[in-house]
Amino acid sequence: MRTVRTVAELRALLLPDRRAGRRIGLVPTMGALHDGHLSLLRRAAAETEVVVLSLFVNPTQFDEASDLAAYPRDEAADAALAEQAGCTVLFAPSVHEVYPDGFCTTVTVDGPLTGTLEGAHRGAEHFQGVATVVTKLLNMVGPDVAFFGQKDAQQALVIRRLVRDLDIPARIEVCPTVREDDGLARSSRNVRLHGEDRDRALALRAALRAAEDAVAGGERDAAAVRDAARAAMTPFSVDPEYLAVVDPDTLVPRTAIDGDTLVAVAARVGEVRLIDNTLIPSPR
Ligand code: AMP
Repeated sequence: MRTVRTVAELRALLLPDRRAGRRIGLVPTMGALHDGHLSLLRRAAAETEVVVLSLFVNPTQFDEASDLAAYPRDEAADAALAEQAGCTVLFAPSVHEVYPDGFCTTVTVDGPLTGTLEGAHRGAEHFQGVATVVTKLLNMVGPDVAFFGQKDAQQALVIRRLVRDLDIPARIEVCPTVREDDGLARSSRNVRLHGEDRDRALALRAALRAAEDAVAGGERDAAAVRDAARAAMTPFSVDPEYLAVVDPDTLVPRTAIDGDTLVAVAARVGEVRLIDNTLIPSPR
């Protein structure tokens, strides 16, 4: 595995592969790699010959300075894990490399895809930050396929939209959420969950399970499904920031469970803000 830090080095390194027609895969991450990231890397290694992992803690997508400051960073550990999972190129640019002096271009995905859920709670800047950095990474690497996680379902929709709207010639693949044994979705922020907060974090999975069970039990009223999910969080003393029952493609709230349905939840547990979701197939 090679580590490169500049766009010029990255392009020079990838040029022979591109000329030889070897397929390039990109896995964008903010580091602090866990099994969720590694599952994307393994999938990339299975589907493409050259696997680029980008490691960049993107300051523009953080809406809280304290979250950015506390974000875990360990490039040496990440490099070792990435190589084992089949990564061939580690791209770890500096902030200045990504945002050079005078930088003033932003990619904005408008409309309900960004105006709801994470966008509504973290502010419009969050998805502007994500859309801009992902567009840049796609332009820097020029992958045939880029791999993202269903854990960030809304982010995946936003990226699919911008790739289509801006005619970026990359296929977007969305991979399943990887969880801890007890169901907690893997997240780089989980290392900041201490003591009983680690147990309380299971409130999110409990909510999603309750929604799944309600639909499996025949409930077709979206508000009732939401109420069941909400009630499942109460024993954990965790209040959702949002708990939404929506169309998985448009994120428009559902009134009835009459098609595939995404249930998405965000909650603060101690100092840490967590998100999770489940895709419930159409009961019809
Ligand atoms: P992050 O480093 O948190 O920005 O995540 C980088 C990529 O890994 C994103 O596409 C995430 O959706 C994906 N990812 C994060 N956590 C998980 C998980 N538990 N399972 C699958 N993919 C994940």
